[in-house]
Amino acid sequence: MKPAPFAYAKARSVDHAIELLGGMPGEARLLAGGQSLLATLNMRLSAPKLLIDLNGIGGLDGISVKNGQVEIGALTRHADAEHSSDIAKHAPLIAMAVPHIGHVAIRNRGTLGGSIAFADPAAELPACLLALGGEVEIAGAKGKRTVKSDHFFKGLFETALGSQDVLTAIRVPAATKNTRVGFAEFARRHGDYAMIGLAATARADGRGLADVRLAYFGVDATAVRAMKAEAALASGKLDDAVKQLAEDLDPHDDVQATGAAKKHLAGVLLRRVAKQLMEARP
Ligand SMILES: Cc1cc2nc3c(=O)[nH]c(=O)nc-3n(C[C@H](O)[C@H](O)[C@H](O)COP(=O)(O)OP(=O)(O)OC[C@H]3O[C@@H](n4cnc5c(N)ncnc54)[C@H](O)[C@@H]3O)c2cc1C
Repeated sequence: MKPAPFAYAKARSVDHAIELLGGMPGEARLLAGGQSLLATLNMRLSAPKLLIDLNGIGGLDGISVKNGQVEIGALTRHADAEHSSDIAKHAPLIAMAVPHIGHVAIRNRGTLGGSIAFADPAAELPACLLALGGEVEIAGAKGKRTVKSDHFFKGLFETALGSQDVLTAIRVPAATKNTRVGFAEFARRHGDYAMIGLAATARADGRGLADVRLAYFGVDATAVRAMKAEAALASGKLDDAVKQLAEDLDPHDDVQATGAAKKHLAGVLLRRVAKQLMEARP
């Protein structure tokens, strides 16, 4: 299929993009890497009247580490994050997750901002942002604002972004020597969207773990935290944590697997990721 006809505009700046969005309320879409948007246009799941291309805006990409945080510009390509020494050192959870996103060609074009804004429930990066307790920087008609990851993902492909908002960056806490991270997913083939996955962070506390955050993806309308399992794992009770998943998660059947299979796999992932969390980083 071919997309429905649309007009195209190249934004010169974030302010220009916001102005263009305001000129066609609800009828315009931002174009970043196009790796999700073009598929939805081609399948006519979406038929905006105007595409606003963000790719010519300078300064919307890039990775920096300041004030104990890693800031990643919205237009940073997955491939740039994958090969960044700053990401490897200061945001190791993102470094573990990015190679699981699609294939090389998709990672060369797709952007971190696009993935967070699209909020696919089976995508890796929204779950990482949630596990890291990160935040999203948004520019809109009324100025800039910051939204914490716990409040950003609202529902299926639904976020705190309004129709005149541009996601400009994400920020996550920079890893310290006590930071522990874990990541695992099940996909039918490497590069496929995950059937189910788990992104996790914790703080080493003596011989145990504190501040455990477990963010599952592929189980619900958004990435979700398994809070009862988090508490059990922080108490050093892995078997209890696995049992608590029955209360934390309620995965439904989908094209990839039954809800029952996903529930079982959630426990398998938790055991794998708990092992990673217990290991000190090199
Ligand atoms: C074959 C295939 C396999 C894939 N597999 C995976 C996978 O395993 N895991 C995974 O996570 N992803 C996967 N993807 C999707 C890929 O990661 C995309 O890069 C990502 O979902 C969207 O990023 P994008 O930059 O391409 O955004 P686009 O497609 O350009 O945009 C996606 C949506 O986000 C909005 N948007 C984009 N940027 C902004 C912004 N700065 N502010 C506000 N709104 C914005 C757009 O308007 C649009 O609605 C796959 C894609 C393909 C084609």
